Amino acid sequence: MICQEDIFMFSLQRIEQAILREEFVPYYQPQVNVLQQKIVGVEALVRWQHPELGLLAPLFFLPFAETTGVISEIDGLVLKKACQDIHELHRLGFGMSVAVNLSASHFNHKYLPRMIAEVLEETGIDPCSLVLELTEGVMIHDVQQAVRVMREVQELGVKIYLDDFGRGYSNLFWLLHFPFNGVKVDRCFIQSSTMDAKNYEVLLSILDLSRRLNLEVILEGVETEQQLQFCGQQGYGVAQGYLFSYPLTIIGLEKRFWLERLQ
Ligand code: C2E
Ligand code: CA
Ligand code: CA
Ligand code: CA
Repeated sequence: MICQEDIFMFSLQRIEQAILREEFVPYYQPQVNVLQQKIVGVEALVRWQHPELGLLAPLFFLPFAETTGVISEIDGLVLKKACQDIHELHRLGFGMSVAVNLSASHFNHKYLPRMIAEVLEETGIDPCSLVLELTEGVMIHDVQQAVRVMREVQELGVKIYLDDFGRGYSNLFWLLHFPFNGVKVDRCFIQSSTMDAKNYEVLLSILDLSRRLNLEVILEGVETEQQLQFCGQQGYGVAQGYLFSYPLTIIGLEKRFWLERLQ
């Protein structure tokens, strides 16, 4: 059994070794159009295939990777692999977008647009199929520069979403100051919306606000039919959660698409 304290077992050296050995791989969680009941996108979620400990979720290594800065290398790897994998599925005729998580620290650096442009070129994926999810955790030092970096990325045709909207750092300040294309509404809202009247009102307001600001919306953490019904009632388009699927390997994802095609 792996406990949370095991995070501290990993040295920076071990993580760098894992990068070289390509032990970090993306898993893919489907995003479903609620009305059509069809997969329209996937989110790439990193896993560490540790030779001794087995498959490790981000919780066990991301906090350490963020504080040491090695996160940027892991993000780069996941981005490239995800674009390769999804481009391959596009070639099989399966259309979908792919969302990749980027630590907000990348937006402090001018190199980001060039890095993305290189990945697009190397993998051949259509830029319009790529979404970057900006995850909270690191503060942006220079807002104006980060906005410039974002716009340059968007000029490539890539979309940028604010992740975990409504929680922690992912608040209204970000929406005011940065040109996001969409938001991922944090799962705490959808998961308690059916239980708590106050939460329900907050969720409705978030959806209304997103609509007014012309933001695309994905509801995260849909686990029950009841929560799915809520999405449908609000006319809300795209949802993601264990109800539809757990994160899958690329092989598992491809199987899902073949099954969907046969239905
Ligand atoms: P996130 O971006 O908010 O991703 C959603 C997380 O919720 C994932 O956890 C996913 O497995 C989980 N999830 C999906 N559906 C449900 C549901 O219905 N119920 C519940 N309770 N959970 C659900 P995971 O894979 O452990 O990832 C945790 C976080 O690690 C992510 O949260 C993201 O912030 C970060 N992360 C993952 N991959 C990367 C990456 O490649 N780079 C960076 N920088 N961060 C990443
Ligand atoms: Ca995310
Ligand atoms: Ca997050
Ligand atoms: Ca999220």
